[in-house]
Amino acid sequence: MDAEQLREYGHRMVDFIADYYKSIESFPVLSQVKPGYLAELLPESAPNDPECLQDVFDDILQKIIPGITHWQSPDYFAYFPSNSSTAGFLGEMLSAGFNIVGFSWVTSPAATELEVIVLDWLAKMLKLPNQFLSTGKGGGVIQGTASEAILVVLLAARDKILRKVGKKSLEKLVVYASDQTHSALQKACQIAGIFPENLRVLKTDLTSNYALSLEVVSETISSDLSAGLIPFFICATVGTTSSAAVDPISELGKIAKAFNMWFHIDAAYAGSACICPEYRHYIDGVEEADSFGMNAHKWFLTNFDCSVLWVQDRSDLIQSLSTNPEYLKNKASQENAVVDFKDWQIPLGRRFRSLKLWLVLRLYGVANLQSYIRNHIRLAEQFEQLITSDSRFEVVAPRTFSLVCFRLIPPPNDQDNGYKLNHSLLDAVNSSGKIFLSHTVLSGNFILRFAVGAPLTEDRHIKTAWQVLQDQATTLLKDY
Ligand code: PLP
Repeated sequence: MDAEQLREYGHRMVDFIADYYKSIESFPVLSQVKPGYLAELLPESAPNDPECLQDVFDDILQKIIPGITHWQSPDYFAYFPSNSSTAGFLGEMLSAGFNIVGFSWVTSPAATELEVIVLDWLAKMLKLPNQFLSTGKGGGVIQGTASEAILVVLLAARDKILRKVGKKSLEKLVVYASDQTHSALQKACQIAGIFPENLRVLKTDLTSNYALSLEVVSETISSDLSAGLIPFFICATVGTTSSAAVDPISELGKIAKAFNMWFHIDAAYAGSACICPEYRHYIDGVEEADSFGMNAHKWFLTNFDCSVLWVQDRSDLIQSLSTNPEYLKNKASQENAVVDFKDWQIPLGRRFRSLKLWLVLRLYGVANLQSYIRNHIRLAEQFEQLITSDSRFEVVAPRTFSLVCFRLIPPPNDQDNGYKLNHSLLDAVNSSGKIFLSHTVLSGNFILRFAVGAPLTEDRHIKTAWQVLQDQATTLLKDY
């Protein structure tokens, strides 16, 4: 590493990125390139001799940016947000600068200790019960994604029950979730060796606002017990991916406790909102949970990746995931005096991700982070009102946080009840390049999702988005 070259190139790169942010609204939000476009633009093999940075910048502008979907654009309303911020960016930069690999405490004590402290801070902001703090039996850990978080707790729960009932009972273990639970749970079950027929995907509908029904959960558990199976894991979601539905946490926690099951809460998206006192009640009952996760990289101004997971009893994770090879042995670990996060996750290596979360918490402060969340929810309310003001549209699920699910009402006797019509509306708005939305299917209907959460989104972007939607709807409906 040549420090002076880093200074020069680093300044040029920061200028480049700052200019990108200044002009971000000029790009089509959803990349409009065709599959394979890049192979036609780049050489078939790596250069033999070094090239100059300016040539790389030219290629980024001409060849890479056209293939970028601009997640940080203020006109981005698809999926869920994936926030960037100056604070998060600086933390990423610093992490890349140190480039340590903090799998054990000894490999960089500050990395482990800062992660422990920052996750305790965030747990206190969320008013998580004391059991989740590092001062108790639990603690927090940064995973790459919510999928990894779900996998590690499922493995911990599986091994915990198998220690009790014997390894041969793996085929009897049953997992419970709703048909709105993220597919990350299904993948985790596949990896954990849970028999596919033992993942209970329980039906939800509009009558329960797409939340899990307690009756259905209880009945299914009872019938599984009668069949000699072993219920061991419930995954509840606060803010489901399709419609931001909220499962009944307190009651599910009680059911899990009654049957001695592991209870995980996936609040990947909506967990961030729970730092605001007025939204904290959505996780009331979290004291019954064995684990709770949220993605700071979604709606919390922390650059990807930063998925935060807390457990009530860290020994569950450690018993499942620890290894102790000779080449990693050291005095601090041997004396049990430290946390070694390698034993709380799948990989060995890990980045210094707590830096960016620390910078976000310090450079914003709790009050500003709360205002940030509230502002997006206000903008989503505004959008919801615009939808309800136009009789051609309908809101199809209650809006709880910053996600609005809506559709164009199909004309009477429409063959597929608006499926094709709304699909066409989505294609039309996204290929305009002006805004980017994604979709889901709820109760068999094709639904558009409008998720507010990009840091640069302001009132004017909501108005523009609405205009784009209205114009495209008018054009489409002419042909119906
Ligand atoms: N859980 C929920 C509720 C989500 O909405 C998502 C992604 O949007 C995930 C889990 C998966 O997140 P990740 O990409 O961090 O694995």
